[in-house]
Amino acid sequence: MKTCCTCEKDKPAEGFGKNKTMEDGLSRKCKQCVSEYQKRLYKIRNKEKPSTWKCKSKDMKTYQSKYREMLLKCDPEYYNRATREYMERKKQKINAS
Ligand SMILES: [Zn+2]
Repeated sequence: MKTCCTCEKDKPAEGFGKNKTMEDGLSRKCKQCVSEYQKRLYKIRNKEKPSTWKCKSKDMKTYQSKYREMLLKCDPEYYNRATREYMERKKQKINAS
């Protein structure tokens, strides 16, 4: 059993997608949350002008800030949690070195 980081429900391993970067090889979000999240993301993405997503390498900063903006609109709770976790990991790294 694993707890989903989004709906916080305990689900069997089959309920999670695979993620090689994770220690247990499973995604932190259950499949259901991932698909709901992707649906929302897709909707928001479609509202934006396609040109926004084309200039990836050209203007990475703009792209990243756009992407963050979109994430925030789409799933503020997840965004805030991810940012907090990222900051904590960063802090731990600094402390460890
Ligand atoms: Zn979930």
